Amino acid sequence: LSDRLSGVFDRLTKQGALSEDDVKTALREVRVALLEADVSLPVARSFVKSVQDKATGQEVTKSVTPGQQVVKIVHDELVKVLTGEGEPGYLKIDNPPAPILMVGLQGGGKTTTTAKLAKRLKEVNGKRVLMASLDVNRPAAMEQLAILGRQIGVDTLPIVPGQKPVDIAKRAKQQAAMGGYDVYMLDTAGRLSIDEALMAEVEAVRDVANPRETLLVVDGLTGQDAVNTAENFDERIGITGVILTRMDGDGRGGAALSMRAVTGKPIKYVGLGEKLDAIEEFHPERIAGRILGMGDIVSLVEKAQATIEAEQAERMMKRFQKGQFNMNDLKMQLEQMLKMGGMEGIMGMMPGMGKMSKQMEEAGFDDSILRRQIALINSMTKKERANPQLLQASRKKRIAAGAGLDVPELNKLLKMHRQMSDMMKKLGKKGGRALLKKAMG
Ligand code: GDP
Ligand code: MG
Repeated sequence: LSDRLSGVFDRLTKQGALSEDDVKTALREVRVALLEADVSLPVARSFVKSVQDKATGQEVTKSVTPGQQVVKIVHDELVKVLTGEGEPGYLKIDNPPAPILMVGLQGGGKTTTTAKLAKRLKEVNGKRVLMASLDVNRPAAMEQLAILGRQIGVDTLPIVPGQKPVDIAKRAKQQAAMGGYDVYMLDTAGRLSIDEALMAEVEAVRDVANPRETLLVVDGLTGQDAVNTAENFDERIGITGVILTRMDGDGRGGAALSMRAVTGKPIKYVGLGEKLDAIEEFHPERIAGRILGMGDIVSLVEKAQATIEAEQAERMMKRFQKGQFNMNDLKMQLEQMLKMGGMEGIMGMMPGMGKMSKQMEEAGFDDSILRRQIALINSMTKKERANPQLLQASRKKRIAAGAGLDVPELNKLLKMHRQMSDMMKKLGKKGGRALLKKAMG
């Protein structure tokens, strides 16, 4: 991809707004890259279309070429689609014992992934985990889980020959409650392909366990098949997340994009090998880079990113000086904070902002709050973002509901915005430009 794209970029050197032709030329190559990376055709098509709409007419920042800018837009859009709602790696495991149901086809990596996750839950989250194999078709499968359990020091439910999966699930539930476990994981049997017997079995187990998380484990190298599998399981069983295995292979990871686009379900983890610690939280940026072909593309994107951010900061400063600080500015600040790892971000670096950042920290302000605040702002209309004073009760209700949050949380955000905006005004009056400039590098 890189060669092909850099060719396109060389041709796209004029400045100004991105023309439709610029964008079309670059996107033709992007589309091919997506298909090569195993993204399904309809998904690639609609993805390219959405980028086309976003990119055309966008102003090209001074120090990047139009081609670089298109790639940055593509990259950001990929990350956005891949990210979705919720936090990567986040599992609902409150209210112990929390059941986690592992589903998927045979050979996808369910049993291995069950052990990998159990190990993480134990070592990273300090949870007591019980694992149970429901794979009654293959006695060796139950033994496989028991062996893995001994390797990682996690208990497995004793094997009782002749029991049905539903009965094993019931027994696991009891055992987990009695034994004071935080989590119990049900490793279901797979089939080579989706069939009615498999689905009925998994469904019955689901009804018994009422899982907090139903995680689909799929082989990330199987491309479109993985997507079909996800669609089928989601329709019938209802999944809460996906784990893509074999991402250590040389697949391009396009399945991740198709899967997100088709099911809308978050990809929570990726498996990166056979060893039991070869699992990590899903990083949308990494997969985006992989889909686009890595290498110099990433540095192109970084360069473009830095330039665009610097120009944004400059523009923002000018607005602050005039005492303008609306929800779009706040959103940009919040995103910056997320990127810079939270409270140590620009707030702390700006004179006069240190105190506020400390207050926020004391109030238990963390990344998940940042994400929720961004969601609230996203749920506002353009007009509301520019004029937050428009927000009356009915609008507040709509915005909070749109973000899946409640009005008190929105009120907190608005209060924070007012405080920041007051502070910005003061800074502006005190000839804060120099200060701001210094603070923002
Ligand atoms: P199950 O039938 O779904 O339970 O699949 P298993 O957990 O038994 O895994 C099947 C095979 O895939 C085993 O040989 C695993 O070691 C291997 N495997 C599972 N996850 C990964 C992964 O992320 N990367 C690689 N390379 N192999 C994996
Ligand atoms: Mg298995």
